[in-house]
Amino acid sequence: MNEFVYVSGRHCLDFAGTILWRRTLRTELLEKPEDLRHWVDGANLCDEMDPPSSDSVADAQHLREAIYSAVTASLTGSAHRATQDEVSLLNITARGPLPSLTLSRERDTTSAGSPDNVLSLLARDTIELIGSAEMTKVKECSNPDCTRLFVDLSRGFSRRWCGMAECGNRIKAADYRRRKKLQSID
Ligand SMILES: [Zn+2]
Repeated sequence: MNEFVYVSGRHCLDFAGTILWRRTLRTELLEKPEDLRHWVDGANLCDEMDPPSSDSVADAQHLREAIYSAVTASLTGSAHRATQDEVSLLNITARGPLPSLTLSRERDTTSAGSPDNVLSLLARDTIELIGSAEMTKVKECSNPDCTRLFVDLSRGFSRRWCGMAECGNRIKAADYRRRKKLQSID
C-alpha cells in the first residue's frame, strides 16, 4: 500500500499531493480503493467511510486534478488558468452532501459517509481556500522536482520545503556534498 504524508496544512493540498513529482517522475499514489481509504483515514476526514470502489478512485483522481489546477491557477503570479470543466467539477462536487457528524453522550464524535461525501468535503475545502486570505500563503515546495503545495504559516513567511524529511534534508545534503567537494578541490 502507498504511504501518504500530510504536510500541506490543508486537506485539499495534501490531497493534490497524492501525485508526486508532477513535472518529472510523475508518480500516482492513489491507485486502488484501499489507497483512497488509507488516505482518508490518515487525513482524519471520515471515521466510518463506506468502502470505496474503483469508480470512487477514478472520481477522486479526477477531482484531485481539478483541485491542483484551480489552486495552482490561484498562486500569486501564476499564468495557469483552470478550465471550465475543472471549475464546474469543483462546484458540482462542493454542492454535494458532506459526511455526517455525530456526538455521543460520552462526548465522542464520529463522522460517517460515502467516498462521494468526502470528495464534497475536499471540493469545499478547495473553494474555501481559494476564496480566503490563506490563499496568498500557499507555496510550492522549493525542491524543483517536488510539486507539493503547502500553506506557509511560518512567522517570517520563510518556509521553503513541503516537509524537511522529504525535501529540505535531501537538498541540504546535496548542498553539503557540493560544498565538501569544492573544499576538497581547494
Ligand atoms: Zn517537497
